[in-house]
Amino acid sequence: MSKIVIIGGGPAGMFAAYELSKNGQEVTLIESGLDVEDRRKAIAKEDSAGPHYISGMGGSGTFSDGKMNLHPQIGGDLTEFAPRSEAESLILYVDRIFTAHGAPKEAEISPDARKLEIRAMREGLKYIPIRQKHVGSDLLPDVVSSIRKEMESFGLKVLIGTSATDITVEKGRVSGVKIRDKKGKESTLPADYVIAAPGRAGSQWLLDLAKEKGIGFRYGPLDIGVRVEVPNEVMEEVTKISWDPKFHVRTKRYDDFVRTFCTNPSGFVITENYGKFVSVNGHSMKNKYSNNTNFAFLVRISLTHPVENTTQYGRSICMLATTIGGGKAILQRLGDLKAGHRSTWERIEKSYVEPTNKDVTPGDIAMALPARIVGDLVEGLDMLAKVVPGVNDQSTLLYAPEAKFKSIRLEITKKLEAAQVKNLFTAGDGAGVSGGIIPAAATGLIAAKEILRREKDA
Ligand SMILES: Cc1cc2nc3c(=O)[nH]c(=O)nc-3n(C[C@H](O)[C@H](O)[C@H](O)COP(=O)(O)OP(=O)(O)OC[C@H]3O[C@@H](n4cnc5c(N)ncnc54)[C@H](O)[C@@H]3O)c2cc1C
Repeated sequence: MSKIVIIGGGPAGMFAAYELSKNGQEVTLIESGLDVEDRRKAIAKEDSAGPHYISGMGGSGTFSDGKMNLHPQIGGDLTEFAPRSEAESLILYVDRIFTAHGAPKEAEISPDARKLEIRAMREGLKYIPIRQKHVGSDLLPDVVSSIRKEMESFGLKVLIGTSATDITVEKGRVSGVKIRDKKGKESTLPADYVIAAPGRAGSQWLLDLAKEKGIGFRYGPLDIGVRVEVPNEVMEEVTKISWDPKFHVRTKRYDDFVRTFCTNPSGFVITENYGKFVSVNGHSMKNKYSNNTNFAFLVRISLTHPVENTTQYGRSICMLATTIGGGKAILQRLGDLKAGHRSTWERIEKSYVEPTNKDVTPGDIAMALPARIVGDLVEGLDMLAKVVPGVNDQSTLLYAPEAKFKSIRLEITKKLEAAQVKNLFTAGDGAGVSGGIIPAAATGLIAAKEILRREKDA
């Protein structure tokens, strides 16, 4: 029987492993981080969100808000890889597995969504109605554990605390994965197929590997900006219609694309530590509430000539922001940003919004992000306020930087196989083909289904 190695225990790797092991394949899943329960303990001990938030069994979303967007073109575009009806079926399939393991069943589009869409259109914004469900950070780890148990009952082998260090290729075909276990012991797992799904944490590793193996790649766009925090009341009207409302704005000055992303009603802003820099994020929980709603407000940047590397550009912006924040994320009132002065704790206290993340430095976002991005954010919030009044109030809090690196896209086929290396598949955020739990899982399934098809034909 063919040997299949999957790199990364996030949704992309997990769902690929689920499908393959359920169909009787010999699969080894390797995950460099901790197991779910150990992650839970490690996170509880961390002052601010450390590496265990983004790494470990279940992947970066496990201790996140667990908002699931059931739309083939949100969080990536699955229609690039499958006809729309097939892409929709994949999403339903992923949803069914999550639901069978404890995620809530209900996911409907509110009848008021169409009205909001029209209102937004009249104000020059785009609102995208989507079916959504909210699992919540405190429930998702149990869902992940339950899926994992089922996969192991299918015969899946899971290597926790084990990192893939290299992928071996012989005569243009994948032949194995070099690994290092938690004790530092190195070995090679022979493999007839590999699915590399290392997530954002492993995207640089994947890029280095692609360069070394002569696999073509291109840089994806960077989404960079701030996390906005307002009182729940400001967002209530739209979050009642959809938990995570998706607004797209095109700014007049630069004709740039700005969007809302990952909204967390009654949620909390967190800091993620990427070693050389910090970036903010947000989550909300099923059983713990704040008085605030937060959402990411992000400007899309693509680079062409002479620099195409959006990852490097995004990282350097985040590093600058981290420098000016003294190693922490920056917090600023929108009123202070507009008035051209930094925020201080004294000024923040004048705000009607109490920050949910105080492990930050009150400062000046204009010193941290490029002027074009700051201009887009301020203009974009003013435009958004036409549909969400109050969102551009001077009390509104902004945390920076927030960056979503959809960094590289390997040269891949529609089945997610690397064009230059046979039987090497990629899936999920690290490969630049998704940006969310559901789409990442769906890309894992696309790769898995192709392997199953080949094995059946063999
Ligand atoms: C704080 C936060 C909140 C989020 N909230 C949401 C949300 O509400 N809804 C939503 O849809 N999405 C959310 N996301 C995004 C979502 O989690 C990701 O889109 C999704 O998890 C990507 O899945 P993935 O499998 O591609 O990668 P990941 O989930 O990142 O998993 C990759 C895994 O691979 C492991 N790995 C990396 N390199 C190696 C290696 N060399 N060897 C072995 N293992 C390796 C990593 O440790 C990691 O566990 C959030 C993300 C974060 C960080």
